[in-house]
Amino acid sequence: MAEASAECNIRVLCRFRPLNQCEILREDKFLPVFQGDDTIIMGGKSFVFDRVFPNNTTQEQVYNSCAKQIVKDVLDGYNGTIFAYGQTSSGKTHTMEGKLHDPENMGIIPRITDDIFNYIFAMDENLEFHIKVSYFEIYMDKIRDLLDVSRTNLSVHEDKNRVPYVKGCTERFVSSPEEVMDIIDEGKSNRHVAVTNMNEHSSRSHSIFLINIKQEHVETEQKLSGKLYLVDLAGSEKVSKTGAEGSVLDEAKNINKSLSALGNVISALAEGTKTHVPYRDSKMTRILQDSLGGNCRTTMFICCSPSSYNEAETKSTLMFGQRAK
Ligand code: ADP
Ligand code: MG
Repeated sequence: MAEASAECNIRVLCRFRPLNQCEILREDKFLPVFQGDDTIIMGGKSFVFDRVFPNNTTQEQVYNSCAKQIVKDVLDGYNGTIFAYGQTSSGKTHTMEGKLHDPENMGIIPRITDDIFNYIFAMDENLEFHIKVSYFEIYMDKIRDLLDVSRTNLSVHEDKNRVPYVKGCTERFVSSPEEVMDIIDEGKSNRHVAVTNMNEHSSRSHSIFLINIKQEHVETEQKLSGKLYLVDLAGSEKVSKTGAEGSVLDEAKNINKSLSALGNVISALAEGTKTHVPYRDSKMTRILQDSLGGNCRTTMFICCSPSSYNEAETKSTLMFGQRAK
C-alpha cells in the first residue's frame, strides 16, 4: 500500500461485508466487482481507494494492512483518528470492535490495545508510560460520558495550548489490555441501560473511544505524547421522507448534518491546500481538530453491504469515501 504523502495523511479504505442470512434467503444479488487491491466496480462505475477489502477479508488482515502502523505512530508522538462510516449493518462496529474477547474475530480497537502494551513492554526501561482512555458518545449533538451516566451533556473546551477537549469527561488510567476491555464493556453496558432499543440507538449516535499515551524518560525527562480517536459513526442511511416524522426526523437531520460536517472537513484536508477547514461546524469535528489531517494519521473505513437491496446506499457511501481522495 502506498504511504500517505506528507501533505495528505488521510487514507480511505473500503470494506465490504459478506451477504448476510436474510439477504441470501431473499436471493439478493452480490453486486461489487473487486479489481486489484484498490478498486471496486459497482453498476459500471469504478471507485478507487487506498485499499479495498473484499467480503472475505479477515479481521487480522484488515488490522495488519492498515491499523498496525498507527500504533507505532502514536507511540512516536503523532495523533490519529480512525473512523468507520457506512449505513446501519454495513460492518462499522464489526470493523472497529468486532468480538472483543475472541482473538480471531476481534476488531481494530482490541488489536490496537494489545499492540500498544506489547510495544511498551519491549521498550526502553527508562521510559515511563501513562495511558488513559475515555469513552463517550455524541447523540443529537449532546456529548454523553459512557463511563459515568450522570454526565449527559458535556461541552467542548480548549486547553491553554488551544487544543480542544471534552470538559469533565471521565479519564481512566490503564495498565493492561484487560483493563481496557473491561472499560469498553462497562461503557457498552451503560449505553444499554440508558436506552430502550440499543440497536436503534447505536445506529443514531457516534461513539468515540480515546486512547491517550504520554511517555517520559526518567533520566532526561524528555516527554512525548500522542493520542488516538477511534470513532464508530452513526448510520449514514437516508431516512425516507414519507415515513419519518417527529423525533426520528430530527435525529436523521442531526446525523446528516454531523456527517456532512465531517465530510466537508475531510475533503478540505484532502485538498491539501490552504483552504479553510470548517472544524467548527460540528462538535465532533471540533473535538477531533488536532487529530485530523496535517501532521496526524487519519484513516477512514468506508463500510459497505454487497447486496443489491442496498445498492443506492452503497453507492452513496462510496461517493462519500471518494470525496476524501
Ligand atoms: P454496523 O455497526 O455498521 O451497524 P455491524 O458491524 O453491527 O454493522 O454488522 C452487522 C452484522 O454483520 C453483524 O452481525 C456483524 O457481525 C456482521 N458483519 C459485519 N461485517 C462483517 C464481515 N466483514 N464479516 C462477517 N460478518 C460481518
Ligand atoms: Mg454498529
